[in-house]
Amino acid sequence: MSDWDALNEFLRTDPRDIGCDRALDALHTYSEMAAAGKNPAELFPGLAAHLESCSACSGDHEALVRAIREFGGGELC
Ligand SMILES: [Zn+2]
Repeated sequence: MSDWDALNEFLRTDPRDIGCDRALDALHTYSEMAAAGKNPAELFPGLAAHLESCSACSGDHEALVRAIREFGGGELC
């Protein structure tokens, strides 16, 4: 196990947390649902758990939701 993996394990406190790589894969869909007033946490509980613990991804999520609300989702896809 590399130092980076060890750090990642240490930071990943919630067992449902899917981690940054997989979070980023689904983040756009998740943010579109949130911007549309739906509850994406029901569909993506692992991503919701990740956003709780990862400030980088939750910051991206908030920026995406703002951008989708302001400009619409189509051009960002
Ligand atoms: Zn992350």
